[in-house]
Amino acid sequence: MNKVLVITGGSRGIGAATALLAAAREYTVCINYRKNQAAAEAVVDEIKSKGGNAIAVAADVSLESEVKNLFKVIDEQLGPISALVNNAGILEKQMRVEDIDAARLHRIFAANVVGSFLCAREAVRRMSTKHGGHGGAIVNVSSAASRLGSAGEYVDYAASKGAIDTLTIGLSQEVAEEGIRVNAVRPAFIYTDMHADGGEPGRVDRIKESLPMKRGGQPAEVANAILWLLSEEASYTTGTFIDLAGGK
Ligand code: NAP
Repeated sequence: MNKVLVITGGSRGIGAATALLAAAREYTVCINYRKNQAAAEAVVDEIKSKGGNAIAVAADVSLESEVKNLFKVIDEQLGPISALVNNAGILEKQMRVEDIDAARLHRIFAANVVGSFLCAREAVRRMSTKHGGHGGAIVNVSSAASRLGSAGEYVDYAASKGAIDTLTIGLSQEVAEEGIRVNAVRPAFIYTDMHADGGEPGRVDRIKESLPMKRGGQPAEVANAILWLLSEEASYTTGTFIDLAGGK
């Protein structure tokens, strides 16, 4: 099968690590990003310098028109997709639920939940054998926050990842006999820029001593799990989760 992977939010952090590993495993990669074109192009350049094939496409996954355009560009430039990683995600400043306003809830759920649903929809329309596709695999990037709750930090973000867990279970059952596997990874405490968005760039180092492994995780460690779930080695695995949270 032609291996074409689209990864949302692939310009940095876990998404960039996954894009690089996928290219090394001979996927042609579409790196989606929201606004940081230079960062996305840098990932493309690194892939090409190693002999791989990649493109970068801007799209805010929370906007239906931009998601439609993202997949149209992929259809035109790369051909039929075989894999989707729903990785794009946001969180905002740490605060208690009593201080969260509706505008923030809409931003968080639009990016994390609506975005993942829309991209999954476009992928299923292309990959499902019911629609003439050749099957494929979807990996949703959830978070250990979905089961830990993120009290005092961002319960809204944690709840959005709870929705991603449910999407993973439900969609996996809908498309299981149409050649598509749907799984999720649940990272936590990974060294990326995301923690600065929450207002605490050093969060992983603050928390690491409380983790059974006594250390934070690296984006490449999450990428390894994602690539396994996408691979044929995971051919009988669907609707399930790999936790990458240092034992927590
Ligand atoms: P990150 O470093 O903050 O990168 C986020 C990426 O998502 C960027 O490429 C960003 O693009 C993109 N993005 C954000 N909103 C988007 C939108 N609306 N449309 C398209 N792209 C968008 O994050 P990360 O830490 O690698 O996290 C990646 C995923 O892992 C997220 O789903 C996150 O919730 C999850 N996760 C992370 C951790 C952790 O400890 N880091 C733990 C658990 C789960 P631009 O830069 O162009 O905006």
